[in-house]
Amino acid sequence: MKITFFSTKSYDQLYFERANNKQQHEFIFLEPALTENTVGLAAGSKAVCVFVNDKLTAKVIQSLAEQKVELIALRCAGFNNVDLKAAKEHNIPVVRVPAYSPHAIAEHAVALILTLNRKTHKAYNRVRESNFSLDRLIGFDLYGKTVGVVGTGKIGSTFAGIMRGFGCTILATDIQENKALLSQGVQYVPIQELLAKSDIISLHCPLTEQTRHLINEQTLKQTKPGLMLINTGRGALIDTKAVIKALKTGHLGYLGMDVYEQEENLFFKDLSETIIQDDVIARLMTFPNVLITAHQAFLTEEALSEITRITLENIDAFEKGNTLVNVVQL
Ligand code: NAD
Repeated sequence: MKITFFSTKSYDQLYFERANNKQQHEFIFLEPALTENTVGLAAGSKAVCVFVNDKLTAKVIQSLAEQKVELIALRCAGFNNVDLKAAKEHNIPVVRVPAYSPHAIAEHAVALILTLNRKTHKAYNRVRESNFSLDRLIGFDLYGKTVGVVGTGKIGSTFAGIMRGFGCTILATDIQENKALLSQGVQYVPIQELLAKSDIISLHCPLTEQTRHLINEQTLKQTKPGLMLINTGRGALIDTKAVIKALKTGHLGYLGMDVYEQEENLFFKDLSETIIQDDVIARLMTFPNVLITAHQAFLTEEALSEITRITLENIDAFEKGNTLVNVVQL
């Protein structure tokens, strides 16, 4: 099948070409994101393969349908960037990779916590410049702290397991309790209680109308002073401007984020010689207690292999007319 890939990076090409060693598919790898301006590039392909910041609006999907594209294959788990109603109207199935390595994302959330807390990024730079001073590098023991997990699906439950290993008390909130976690001593509490009692809060729920700006001016006021907030979910789970205010007053003690509300204009690109026009992220980058990574939590060998394998399985199933087990339901 001929498949056009949008938002392609070198690692996508490497993993997909390696998996296509029998040349059963024809791949067109494109660097630009899928938008209203680039959708014409899909012409002649039966499927498009897209990632987190491709914009599958109603207009884009209509244009895909007009070009006889029959399948939208997401090479990610989240699907908040797809107008599912439009896809259904045009009878284009949307398939995704519901789970590839929850460990990759959960472990990255822990990396953000450890770095923010123990300041290893600062220590690394200091020591390289022969500055062996320990001033302002004081952290805290994770042992005995309370960690709030919002969303205890595949990633949140894996994260909760790791944090239990550090000796933390785990509070969780979800619209559906995870029985396995209950038996491990994780306590489900209403979000208000989680906000009030947690030393660290980590977000692992999907971005929906209910969860958009879950962390906002009001909810931040309910948190403990000095809270560490970690977001590896989706940028808009957080009202970034409210978070900046809380950082400026000192109420929010630390912020670790792998996702950002306006990330599509920035992340996955080398902008090192460019003037950054986004004043919100520019302000965030000035705080000494903020750590930003550019949506890299998924980037492990295991996750990339699984993303490739499952995406191609989804495409093969469509080509053979088999049941699409990973189809996104409206
Ligand atoms: P999942 O579907 O297994 O788990 C999500 C959990 O969130 C479910 O238990 C669900 O019930 C819960 N939830 C839904 N609405 C909620 C609400 N209003 N309040 C509290 N909980 C709610 O998904 P997952 O595989 O664990 O992934 C979680 C999210 O992580 C994805 O939706 C995606 O946005 C994000 N993600 C980020 C990266 C990255 O590289 N940074 C990679 C993969 C996934």
